[in-house]
Amino acid sequence: VQRRYLSGPVDVSDMEVVMSDTVKLGLPPGSTAVIVKNLYISIDPYCLNFMARKDASGSTTSPLSVMIGYGVSKVVVSGHKDLKAGDLVWGMIGWEEYSLISDPDFLIKINHPELPLSYYTGILGMPGMTAYIGFYELCAPKKGEFVFVSAASGAVGQLVGQFAKMAGCYVVGSAGSDEKVNLLMEKFGFDDAFNYKKEQDLNAALKRCFPEGIDIYFENVGGAMLDAVLLNMRLGGRIAACGMISQYNLEKLEGVHNLMNIITKRLRMEGFVVSDHYSKYRKFEELIVQHLKSKEIAYVEDIAEGLESAPAALVGLFKGQNVGKQLVVVARE
Ligand code: NDP
Repeated sequence: VQRRYLSGPVDVSDMEVVMSDTVKLGLPPGSTAVIVKNLYISIDPYCLNFMARKDASGSTTSPLSVMIGYGVSKVVVSGHKDLKAGDLVWGMIGWEEYSLISDPDFLIKINHPELPLSYYTGILGMPGMTAYIGFYELCAPKKGEFVFVSAASGAVGQLVGQFAKMAGCYVVGSAGSDEKVNLLMEKFGFDDAFNYKKEQDLNAALKRCFPEGIDIYFENVGGAMLDAVLLNMRLGGRIAACGMISQYNLEKLEGVHNLMNIITKRLRMEGFVVSDHYSKYRKFEELIVQHLKSKEIAYVEDIAEGLESAPAALVGLFKGQNVGKQLVVVARE
């Protein structure tokens, strides 16, 4: 649960694990809700959006409550016509052992339980869809184009890089440690990569990696990186604005100074929210399952054990402590 209102960067002490009384799992007659047993919870930057904050005037945005986010679960009691006990699903759940889902229409049934179920927190779940929609639909990649991905070793970034290679593009990623840079090159097949924390000058680093400029930027971080990228975009380039994680814990957003490049270079910068696109989920799921089974796509997870590890895992995202998709195991079956 969230223990106190956020007023600065998220901290482990903002959350705590509480034991509640044992309750009998059951639904009132006529209920269309379901009760699920949670197996894996997905630790995503956007979990912050659901945390209650104090605004500048000192008033609070919402009551403190159970932390929520995406996860993989097993239905234990169902009042819903399309779900029965034993079904495996993914969707929005609480960070708890069991969740009552009052609107199960938002749960998605897992069609491929033969694959690791944890994949439905990442490559086969929300972050995977994010990479797919953002890259294929917003970036409209063409063979031979130059693609740059920030936060490239994370849940979304590692897939964007591999999609770009499949589309015949030249792809470079940035990440915050040498270990992650190695992963990009050795495991995910990026053509080049750099550790942005070691670069004095991001503009110079991008010029070194892209002497001819960038056609496509998959934006995950914002701030100084976005500013440097704008200087290096080519005429007619596209920027998929997926996330700006460098800004999420700031009270005042950093200024971006090079926006004029959008005009002079005729760029298209477009934001998107993955949940608008779930109608395409089944097509996406089948494509990724095919790629996984043929081993055309690699995937790295960072797995923490037990609900009590979730607060540190969330805070760790903003410090770059995760290597690959961060998730937490609540129960294995
Ligand atoms: P990741 O698995 O990439 O984890 C977050 C990573 O961000 C960290 O490991 C760290 O990597 C990097 N990071 C943290 N703080 C900073 C900082 N101050 N500056 C630069 N990099 C930082 O997360 P996801 O793949 O789940 O998410 C990636 C982005 O996609 C986020 O911005 C997220 O909000 C966005 N997103 C958007 C969605 C949408 O619908 N539009 C849906 C899902 C995600 P490093 O060590 O490399 O710095």
